[in-house]
Amino acid sequence: MTLAAPITPPVATIILSSLSRNPGAYDGVNLPPRETPKADFDPDTRKLAKILDAIASFLPTTPRAGLSYAVTLRVTSTSSHITVAGNDVEHFEPDSEGRHPEALINAIWSKMRGICTSEGDERKRHMEDLLIFLFKTHMDKMRARYQKGDEICRIFFSVLDSSDAWNKLPKDTIKILEIAQKIHSASTKFFALSDNIEAYMAAFHQSLIRSQRDYNSKNADDLSLAYIAMYEKLAEEQFETTKGAVGSTDNEQRRRPGKRFSLDRYMGKLVSPAVHALSLLSVADGSLFRRVQHLPLSIAVIHPARSSSFKIPFPDQAAIRSFLEDAYGDEDLSEETDVRALVIDERLLAIGPKLAGHKQLNGPHCECFLINHHHTLQDVPYPYIGVSKLSCLQCGLYAEAYQKYVKQQTSSLPLFRTRGCGADIVPYLLPSASTAMGTFIEEHIISAIKQVVGVILRSDAAEKRAHWRKLSQSSAASSDSQDSGEYHFEGNIRADIFP
Ligand SMILES: [Zn+2]
Repeated sequence: MTLAAPITPPVATIILSSLSRNPGAYDGVNLPPRETPKADFDPDTRKLAKILDAIASFLPTTPRAGLSYAVTLRVTSTSSHITVAGNDVEHFEPDSEGRHPEALINAIWSKMRGICTSEGDERKRHMEDLLIFLFKTHMDKMRARYQKGDEICRIFFSVLDSSDAWNKLPKDTIKILEIAQKIHSASTKFFALSDNIEAYMAAFHQSLIRSQRDYNSKNADDLSLAYIAMYEKLAEEQFETTKGAVGSTDNEQRRRPGKRFSLDRYMGKLVSPAVHALSLLSVADGSLFRRVQHLPLSIAVIHPARSSSFKIPFPDQAAIRSFLEDAYGDEDLSEETDVRALVIDERLLAIGPKLAGHKQLNGPHCECFLINHHHTLQDVPYPYIGVSKLSCLQCGLYAEAYQKYVKQQTSSLPLFRTRGCGADIVPYLLPSASTAMGTFIEEHIISAIKQVVGVILRSDAAEKRAHWRKLSQSSAASSDSQDSGEYHFEGNIRADIFP
């Protein structure tokens, strides 16, 4: 007899992803915050967070897209030490100029040192030198990001410009739209340059930073609302024009921007290299860096295990069913039994194929791999893990669990924080679970996901009950009217035309 595999964090994550793309949208769901609040960081940690996030974001990600990094810094009285981990990589891919993370960090560090130790015009020159270096090494990625949303953005603004839609919008929405348009058009001009591009980098940087400041003072929700309103208007127009025609052409389809495109996120991507560059420039000029810049810097690059090599046994249907039942809970089961069973049966149908599609799992993501690395070595860097992008949900829960664990311990482990946790739901194998910390973290992730699953299932059930109530009310209404005789056509109707 074989024992069914248990529900592990990646399995719980796959179950959650089959239930909802956006679990945060459910009332009562308690997930790690999207952006870690920086208010409770001390000033040094706040600056450090900026440096480490910036360094992680400038590490080479070509030619493999989607590669992300985590970075920590440890400073002793005699040296500073940076540890870099990448997602799911065995060896790091060099960037387009053949540079590895180590060489890139060394170059950034020594240019920061140049700024820190010079004055006046010389310092200005060093600042420009660092900026140009960062933009140049990052150019392919910046251009690719710009191109991804360029067409949608152009359509969006041309629709706005050509209609009287602008005038109907609230003042605040117009303001943020104008800023967004400025960011997009500055980027368009910049990426259209074919030569002497370096000469424009500082001006481009300044324009993005100015716009970013204005942008941050506005409510980005206004932008999303304007985009959705336009999307719906366009969709309606397209429906009108294609209704009479014989089908629509591919071209027309392409001209319709995707509904899930987030203009706000796109703006973030356009300005973030400028913001990260500014972080490095200003930190290089400040007291924190002055204190560490004279120390020799060493860099260690660590590798999580290679992807696609983990085949794991998946739990059987009975184990998943009992996970869902457990998640649902059993309050008021007397009335609920039927609807609960129905909801669970329905959801089980969706989970099966989703699990079957994940025959293999990737290795640990860089941020939790790095936390585990420092914990294993009992190595104590600054308590911030810099990341090149927001963590996925499983990493967010990992970091949350780790903090809980450390707070329970009396050891001097650093209370690592990260940038925050996005909406991506990605299953992967956690770093070694065989330690006390590993077990604690696993249990935390599974129970946190179970709570979210419970909220989703109960909301399914509430929806079902509401639907049934509506149905039974309308059928009650129709039987009432039958009783009133409205459908009794005695003597008044001719049935002889029917065969
Ligand atoms: Zn992750």
